[in-house]
Amino acid sequence: MTTTNKDWTARGDQVFIGTYNRFPAAMVSGKGCWLRDADGREYLDFLAGIAVCSLGHCHPDITEAICRQAGELVHVSNLFHTIPQIELAELLTANSFADRVFMANSGAEANEAAIKLARIHSSAGRYEIISLAGSFHGRTLATVAATGQTRFHQGFEPLPHGFVHAEFGNPDAIAGLVNERTCAILCEPLQGESGVRPLDPGYLQAIRKLCDRHNLLLIFDEVQTGMGRTGTLFAYEQLGVTPDIMTLAKALGNGLPIGAMLTTEAIAASFTAGTHASTFGGNPVTAAAAVATMKIMLADGFLAAVREKGHYLTARLQEVADRFPGLATGVRGRGLLRGLILTEKGIDLGPEIVDRLFKQGVLINFAGNRVLRFVPPLIVSDEEIDIMAHRLDAVLEELTA
Ligand SMILES: *Cc1c(COP(=O)(O)O)cnc(C)c1O
Repeated sequence: MTTTNKDWTARGDQVFIGTYNRFPAAMVSGKGCWLRDADGREYLDFLAGIAVCSLGHCHPDITEAICRQAGELVHVSNLFHTIPQIELAELLTANSFADRVFMANSGAEANEAAIKLARIHSSAGRYEIISLAGSFHGRTLATVAATGQTRFHQGFEPLPHGFVHAEFGNPDAIAGLVNERTCAILCEPLQGESGVRPLDPGYLQAIRKLCDRHNLLLIFDEVQTGMGRTGTLFAYEQLGVTPDIMTLAKALGNGLPIGAMLTTEAIAASFTAGTHASTFGGNPVTAAAAVATMKIMLADGFLAAVREKGHYLTARLQEVADRFPGLATGVRGRGLLRGLILTEKGIDLGPEIVDRLFKQGVLINFAGNRVLRFVPPLIVSDEEIDIMAHRLDAVLEELTA
């Protein structure tokens, strides 16, 4: 007798702490942009494990790298060097502004490392970090405090001190918060979780100038935008702004839990032996997956194809927006991180749209309770984009009928 979605969800609901609102399916296998659940139903995955599985599910090179490394050496801690971790750090520094890397296990941990580095690097008495309204930086206490959305704060007070939030989009608002305690400005080049909101290059350049004027560190949280998602390896490359510190996670290991904090030689010098650490951070298996991931992303034509498919996805979503002006007003984002902006009525129907698409075998989510977010694997084909757009169109048609 086979065990169904219904059986699995009932069992899961008995044992988990209820932190997640899960879709009523137990996923059992995946290949490329497709997932299969316990009932044998197939889904076209435009969520990619929340912008994680950028090379698709079970990419053969990544599977091979994981299996090979798992047969060689799984874990020794950071009391030793390991080969995959060195190779990964070399790839990251060779392909970014950074000279030095600290390995972590997640986005929140990479951001924690950045926050600690910014504080220890700054002269005495400077510890305050300015982040932006609508931002998302993680779920640990410090990264929750850095997150500029009160709904993530409620019930967890008192939050760690030293975080202030500036109005989104206005450089003067940030300038007004700088004082003798400020050590850094932290932002995502494009806000993913709060609704796929790009930051204007001019705005980011003004933030960079402000940092230079006041000797503040600029930290880019590229946990979601990094690793090719926006059509360049890192989003900052398109914006005419180079940060001092950058954090990565999500797609770095194509599904294995790994994060990284990157910075320059001079700033890295403030972290000395014993100041920060992680038991698992960059362990050989996760690092081997990340090395294999980076090699594919750095191959000729990969990032150009992401940009092209980003344009194609945008065009198809814009067609949908044009057909349903009562529900959607347009598309925003970069590369293959796109949001369909909903009208007031569309926002009310957002969860229903996501739910109906799920039933039609397409996975997306409702980001920041305001846009439909599309983050397919970067290897998505035009045909798969067409299938998604067709089913989305059908769902909106049903809802407006
Ligand atoms: C997902 C995300 C995080 C948190 O990453 P975790 O791995 O869940 O800790 C932080 N910042 C941004 C921009 C993210 O999108």
